[in-house]
Amino acid sequence: MQPEHYKDFAQALVDWFATHGKDYPWRRTTDPWAVLVSEIMLQQTTIPTVMGRYEAWMRQFPTPAALAAADEQTALRSWEGLGYYRRVRALQAAAIVITEQHLGIFPTDEAAIRALPGIGDYTVGAVLSFAYNRPAPLVDANVSRVFARVFNDATPIDSPAGRKKHWALAAELVHRENPRAYNSALMELGQTLCTTGEPTCLLCPVRRFCAAKQPAALPVKLPKKAITTAEHHDLWCLTDRGVLMQKQASGQRHEGMYRLPQRSAQAVTGMPLLTTQKYSITRYKVTRYLYNAPDTLPREDEMFIPLEALADTPMASPDRKLVNQLLK
Ligand code: SF4
Repeated sequence: MQPEHYKDFAQALVDWFATHGKDYPWRRTTDPWAVLVSEIMLQQTTIPTVMGRYEAWMRQFPTPAALAAADEQTALRSWEGLGYYRRVRALQAAAIVITEQHLGIFPTDEAAIRALPGIGDYTVGAVLSFAYNRPAPLVDANVSRVFARVFNDATPIDSPAGRKKHWALAAELVHRENPRAYNSALMELGQTLCTTGEPTCLLCPVRRFCAAKQPAALPVKLPKKAITTAEHHDLWCLTDRGVLMQKQASGQRHEGMYRLPQRSAQAVTGMPLLTTQKYSITRYKVTRYLYNAPDTLPREDEMFIPLEALADTPMASPDRKLVNQLLK
């Protein structure tokens, strides 16, 4: 596509979105806080999962001040099931900055938004365009796939060169009058028609601009990192004081949350195996062995959580599943 067609390309997307755009709860608002929450949730969590959680979260924390005032455990518990908990910590840190440094009013200035904790280029673009309807570029995996195909470009989209190219293109292409609809449309095109594998080009609103020769072969990505397997040996210690849990210390994965106590393979020798659990996190394939160990002596970072307090105790999904399963 040549630069003289950029305007028509953007307009075609905006027109298509007017009739084909999906109605998500976060598209019905221009409140920058609500936009920020939805965008943080949608990073690394699927739309159907976010759909089931977003409105309840917004009822619980309707303003930055509400989240800033909550204790960390409550925020973590409310995020449970969405994964990647560092996001909720960053969101709470941003809420505190907005509350303390901006008197609770979400900043409108790009530099001030960019300075909020946990905010990157994508989130800045999302807040500026979706909340304030300002022509800010936005690139995610869907947008990159569309660009790689429209420009028939085999530069790996996850390489520094690929990223730079796509952010520059996004800034040039963005619709000047209706960036909110344009950015939504671009992402939605990647989600619904210009999907991974074989795209649905026949229904594509920008087909006439697209130079892809073999769209299914695009985008090109850098070679994937190898999958690493890991084995965890954990304890199930249920007494009349509750379930023994280990609090994750600062700097550990799932900081501030609770997990079943972990031991070395040597330390569990001879203990009866209760169950095994397999799950994947990013590039790790984890097999977890759980041993029945009612006589365990708690370590410094371990404590008994009474059964009635477990529901409010933040823990990652694999732990929540095991605890629920074993208490049944
Ligand atoms: S024509 Fe096909 S490959 Fe090109 S942008 Fe549309 S859906 Fe994607």
